[in-house]
Amino acid sequence: MLLVNRPIAVPRPLSSVLLFLLLSGCGPAQPEPVRVQWLTMGTVAAVQCVDHAAAPKARDLAQSAFDDLDRELSAWKGDSALAAVNQAAGSSNSVAISPAFAKVLGYALATAKESDGAFNPLIGPVMRAWGFNGADPRPALPEPGELAAARALSDWRKVEFSPTKDGADVRLLMPEMKIDLGAIAKGYAVDLAWERLTRAGHTNLLIDLGGNLRAIGEAAPRRGGWRIGVRSPFNEKEIIGFFILRDGEAVATSGNYERFVEISGVRYAHIMDSRTAMPVTGMAGTTIVAPDAMQADALSTTVFVLGPQKGSALLRGHPGCEALWIPDAKPLTVIATPGLAARLTPTGKTPYTLTVLAPSSP
Ligand code: ADP
Ligand code: MG
Repeated sequence: MLLVNRPIAVPRPLSSVLLFLLLSGCGPAQPEPVRVQWLTMGTVAAVQCVDHAAAPKARDLAQSAFDDLDRELSAWKGDSALAAVNQAAGSSNSVAISPAFAKVLGYALATAKESDGAFNPLIGPVMRAWGFNGADPRPALPEPGELAAARALSDWRKVEFSPTKDGADVRLLMPEMKIDLGAIAKGYAVDLAWERLTRAGHTNLLIDLGGNLRAIGEAAPRRGGWRIGVRSPFNEKEIIGFFILRDGEAVATSGNYERFVEISGVRYAHIMDSRTAMPVTGMAGTTIVAPDAMQADALSTTVFVLGPQKGSALLRGHPGCEALWIPDAKPLTVIATPGLAARLTPTGKTPYTLTVLAPSSP
């Protein structure tokens, strides 16, 4: 079987992905999956369908799932449920949130606890201090006092979260606290789309929302899934290797190279170490394969902050999850858990050194 790989480019300013899908054709009897791509939630969404006729329907179903969640979780819409919780910060009244919102926030808070705050869904004030999330661009670095104040407001322990039969009641205990679900909401949106598409009978399809992907079936008979390329964080045109994403699996990436602010000529990337209120340095990208997209999204950010040793230790509590890290240093190095290292096939075009983590490394 001849595999013809045809990378599909995502417009650079909008893409937030390390990943690059490689479509594969299998001769005339097996046409390539069709890719339908559109813009939503400030990023690029796409569905790839083996059944070309099913693509418009799949696109509409996926977009309806994204729309439903965006109404709840948008950080930009003043009338979203997320905005209502943030606006009520510091008041004595809790805000009732929906089951979907409660699921995402509950998982985000659990990940914060599990990672000892490396993943922090209350990071909003720190993001704004650096000029992200609609804040004015910074003429100079934030002062230590401003960062200390933003850090204090990002205390994820100062959230009251009480599950109810219809979702949860939430209260942010200090005024000016801000929930930021930017590291998890797109993953959950992909899961919701995946569930609706599966329930509607769609087969052999890949969903992508800004680099959060989840598979249904396979791209071609006996392929075993969908071929996913891992891009070099240093050159978006270079694919360093690929692996097969199996039926039901999800993959997510976090990187330091596509969303950043520039202050006095220096770039600061959008993933923060909330213990210091400083952008994480030293890491260029992480990729996580997981049984669902919300987990993949949350963990890609978490292990970006934690690094390979602590990150792989945390992954031991997440069956079916594998990761790779690409440090922000030349020459190109990939550090991978044994499971992902075994699945990664180098293209050979971009040489790199592979370090495989010990299965039980502390
Ligand atoms: P992307 O949004 O590019 O897919 P991520 O999933 O890694 O990348 O999410 C990054 C976003 O998550 C940031 O833009 C910010 O909104 C939020 N964020 C930044 N630092 C953290 C952190 N330590 N924990 C949780 N969320 C974070
Ligand atoms: Mg993430």
